[in-house]
Amino acid sequence: MDYSQLKPESLMMSYGYKPSLSEGAIKCPIFQTSTFVFSNALEGKRFFEVAYGLREKENDEELGLIYSRLNNPDLEILENRLCLWDNAEDCAVFESGMSAISTAMMEFMQPGDLLLYSKPVYGGTDHFINHFLKKLNIESVGFRAGETKEEIIQRIEASGKADKLAMIHIETPANPTNAIIDIELCAEIKSYFTTSEREVILSVDNTYMGPLWQHPLSHGADLVLYSATKYIGGHSDVIAGACLGSKEHMGRVKGLRTFLGNMAGPWTGWLLMRSLETLKVRMDQQAQNAEYVAAFLNNHPKVEHVYYLGNTTKHGSETEKEVLQRQYKSFGAMIAFDVIGGEKEAFAFLDNLKLIKLAVSLGGTESLAEHPQTMTHADVAAEDKEAMNITEKLIRLSVGVENYNDLIADLEQALENC
Ligand SMILES: *Cc1c(COP(=O)(O)O)cnc(C)c1O
Repeated sequence: MDYSQLKPESLMMSYGYKPSLSEGAIKCPIFQTSTFVFSNALEGKRFFEVAYGLREKENDEELGLIYSRLNNPDLEILENRLCLWDNAEDCAVFESGMSAISTAMMEFMQPGDLLLYSKPVYGGTDHFINHFLKKLNIESVGFRAGETKEEIIQRIEASGKADKLAMIHIETPANPTNAIIDIELCAEIKSYFTTSEREVILSVDNTYMGPLWQHPLSHGADLVLYSATKYIGGHSDVIAGACLGSKEHMGRVKGLRTFLGNMAGPWTGWLLMRSLETLKVRMDQQAQNAEYVAAFLNNHPKVEHVYYLGNTTKHGSETEKEVLQRQYKSFGAMIAFDVIGGEKEAFAFLDNLKLIKLAVSLGGTESLAEHPQTMTHADVAAEDKEAMNITEKLIRLSVGVENYNDLIADLEQALENC
């Protein structure tokens, strides 16, 4: 059987793990150990030569286990499995999504550089860009979904630092309203500003679509970033992150991770491997449920507007429809909607929910609802909120794996009473 032809979901239970190395255990044990014993001194020397890049790995030589800040089986096997979904050469897992994002940004930018990013980005990312990076004298320029290539290029040139553009970081579809950004258009901007001396790095935070429904590397991105806390972990019980890309780029990211020491621990690695076994069945069910939930919301008299990719495909502009078709394999399981009224009605709706829990985060097995304007996006500037339709009446819903009839019944009773 040709294993390279198998789909990722068929490989999540076994790929990269040899039972014979672990007493025949069917599952990879938790390697809760800080360090690894070398068979002899020469072996230790040879492992370090590779780890510190003093020599190239020989053909089919694997990097030996040294110390859990550098490598650990639970992380390495997990990273190999994550590579399958995104068809990436290499992956690094982190103890949070924020550590994946911040490490990648710090590796590919230096003081004086310019960052281009899409608005809105995740609140933590936004804060990192506008506070920490600013302190390092790394300036940034934001753009919104729907801007043309020429408009974005103009923004970069107007900053006066076009020759310092080092990185483009985007999030699509945007949280919370599912506005979409064309990754290939951003790859063209990357090429426009890349010179023989400096490569502009294009990174995509793919948390919202998980590794199933959007594959940024195949559209010209250099790095894919995840909060693995969301769909990858999927059970709202672990914080983790991941970064994927080419061997060359990931060598740099992993190098900085080694020295910041923000890699995931073995227990996190084990939990995520367990989660990956059901990634596809969970996400398929969530997307299916979201379709039913969106159809219900679309027809409810107390709901004014529903932000859902399945609606964009019907009512979006021609450009949006084309990007949606080219870039997404599903409409996803994230929905936002406006209730008629304002904060009072939105809060009453949230407080009335019974099965669906009132909490931030997303992508887990249980459905969650929240109020972006006062919660996840509380920190966003008022004018940006307005431009992004983050108003008092907006609710964000992460659809889980429950029976969709039960979810709809809960939404129905909560809307009735708001
Ligand atoms: C949650 C989230 C993050 C941050 O991830 P943590 O695991 O909480 O550090 C980054 N980006 C997006 C889109 C997220 O939803």
